[in-house]
Amino acid sequence: IRVQMQKSEKLNIVSELAASVAHEVRNPLTVVRGFIQLLENEESRTNREYFKLVLTELDRAENIITDYLNIAKHQIEESKLISLTDQLHEVTTIMSSFASLQGVFLQVNVDENLYIIGDRTKIKQAIMNILKNGVEAIQETKGYIKIDACLEEINEKKYVKIIVKDNGVGMSKEQLERLGEPFYSLKEKGTGLGLMVTFSIIEAHKGKIEYLSDNGKGTEVHVLLPAVELEEGNNNDSV
Ligand code: ADP
Ligand code: MG
Repeated sequence: IRVQMQKSEKLNIVSELAASVAHEVRNPLTVVRGFIQLLENEESRTNREYFKLVLTELDRAENIITDYLNIAKHQIEESKLISLTDQLHEVTTIMSSFASLQGVFLQVNVDENLYIIGDRTKIKQAIMNILKNGVEAIQETKGYIKIDACLEEINEKKYVKIIVKDNGVGMSKEQLERLGEPFYSLKEKGTGLGLMVTFSIIEAHKGKIEYLSDNGKGTEVHVLLPAVELEEGNNNDSV
């Protein structure tokens, strides 16, 4: 199943987002406040249970705020030459420790000299969200994520093509179509904001993102970003 991400209409939802985020964050915080109040006048064994709930809800609030702040940061745009080769190595190195904790193997095959123009922090965030979802989609042992990146020419234009492939749970057509919707998440501790952030970052960089998935078999993410070709031997220190 293949779904082309035409995100503009989904991105319009961003304006409605602030209100819903406030709502979403208020819920866990209300729960936390309630339990803290109970703890004030109770000395019992259930205290441990309460603390567990308090911490879980605080985690959730923190996740939502983190993802939301990343959206808010979208206003500040930076346009610099980025070595995507370096960025991909950096991101996959960070991710590999998280992955190996879950028994997931990362296989990285990134070409040299892949450059784009854009915002380094955001590009990193976008790729990180994709990889993190890949790792989280794997529930069995022998899980893997393959990351490939190379130059590709489409209609005489050069792009960097990044493919992230996992053998995780996969998605149905209905699930695929809901990707990028704010708060759409099938995870217990998910925020459902990660891919919305990713899609808007890729769009801001005039790129394209496409999801291919088979329920129960795995998922493939294709990202295209306009490439910058540097002259041979051009050592740009700012990269
Ligand atoms: P979150 O990760 O917080 O749930 P995301 O926006 O990152 O939010 O992802 C939304 C949902 O899309 C996930 O909850 C998951 O159900 C689905 N999803 C995203 N990537 C994958 C993947 N690689 N494999 C399977 N499901 C995925
Ligand atoms: Mg996610």
